[in-house]
Amino acid sequence: MQAETQSDFQSICCVDQVPGSRTSTPHVQPIYATSTFVYPPAEEAMEIFAELKERPHLYNRWGTPNTALVEQKIAALESHGLSENGKPLQLEAVLFSSGMAAVSSLFLSLGLKPGDNIVTQGNIYGTTTEFLDAMLAPIGVRIIYGNLHDMEWVEKQLRAHSPVRLIYLETPTNATARCYDIAQLAQIAHRYGAKCAVDGTLGTPYLQQPFAHGADFVVHSATKFLNGHSNSLTGVVIGRDGAFVKTEVWKMRKLLGGCAGSFDAWLLNMGLKTLPLRMERHCNNAMRIAKALEGHSAIRRVRYLGLEGHPDHKIAARQMRAFGGVLSVEVAGGLEAAVRVLRNVCHCTVTATLGAMDTLIQHPATMTHVKVPREQREAHEITDGLLRLSVGIEDPETIIADLRQAIERP
Ligand code: PLP
Repeated sequence: MQAETQSDFQSICCVDQVPGSRTSTPHVQPIYATSTFVYPPAEEAMEIFAELKERPHLYNRWGTPNTALVEQKIAALESHGLSENGKPLQLEAVLFSSGMAAVSSLFLSLGLKPGDNIVTQGNIYGTTTEFLDAMLAPIGVRIIYGNLHDMEWVEKQLRAHSPVRLIYLETPTNATARCYDIAQLAQIAHRYGAKCAVDGTLGTPYLQQPFAHGADFVVHSATKFLNGHSNSLTGVVIGRDGAFVKTEVWKMRKLLGGCAGSFDAWLLNMGLKTLPLRMERHCNNAMRIAKALEGHSAIRRVRYLGLEGHPDHKIAARQMRAFGGVLSVEVAGGLEAAVRVLRNVCHCTVTATLGAMDTLIQHPATMTHVKVPREQREAHEITDGLLRLSVGIEDPETIIADLRQAIERP
């Protein structure tokens, strides 16, 4: 990649290096609208099939130039400025058709067996919870949910349940805007021979680099801020152990078929080009809105990592560049009051995704986290009055005025 000579974060995002001739090299990577690729001479093709070392573009399920370009960019962003044993950190990434395809493929790539254990938090994304409960628990994998702020509790689980294969955390968390200490959790995992994986969807590599804190894997729903325009679904797994990612994680894409299409990968590449600019604006706007709503008489609690009163503010300040574009608001009056806000908003869009250019609002208890048992939800602040805001890049005064009228109007 050209990033070797222009290695700042923004350059990695916006420079596509695509092959071409001296007079016709595309500036922006074209879309490879083809399902397969013409094979080289038979002997060479046979060798490539037999070895499959370099993830060749032979058939789209195995990868395309469009998926490869965003994989390279995201791996470069996650490792930007990091080194290991005196050398630049090298990471590998595999692109999937959605965030859930990435999350599930990461778990399945570990070859989990009955008796294995996973330690995670009670407030991870609802569909991830559903995947763990519906797909892994029935095959005998114990899913241990708890409070990943409590390091004593975490260590106790790793001592008591052998083998724990993975500590899986989501930080910042979707819905509740909490933040967990990656370095401490990775250290505990490694002390007991486990791996540490981070769902970094809400942070993006621009705001946090989990590999700097010892993570072994990072997953993103690239559908969200990485794409940024709410126009395609993709997901990505990035790993420190390149050989494992290139063989085991990639094999999940090949066998389960969760491959991203060329057009979706291309849309992701277009969105990536403005990632730093967008994230700066999302973060600044979210801070303004959080401050404006804090103290409102109809709001019980505003959770934004940038507010000094947030219980995880210090962890976030240590491991993030800025505090993200997502905040949550708990309105007084529970479900009825939350529904009223959703009915009353005029500017904000009611939808369950996040990371778009415009401000989105949703009700986690009945939408993204509806499959999480009520007791588990409520123990982790996902109450009936909770609303999640994904703050856009509009003028923040527009959003503040809209939210105020939505909260105050009967
Ligand atoms: N992880 C997090 C934190 C999410 O918020 C989401 C979706 O909202 C996912 C994973 C799943 O991503 P996708 O919807 O792209 O499958």
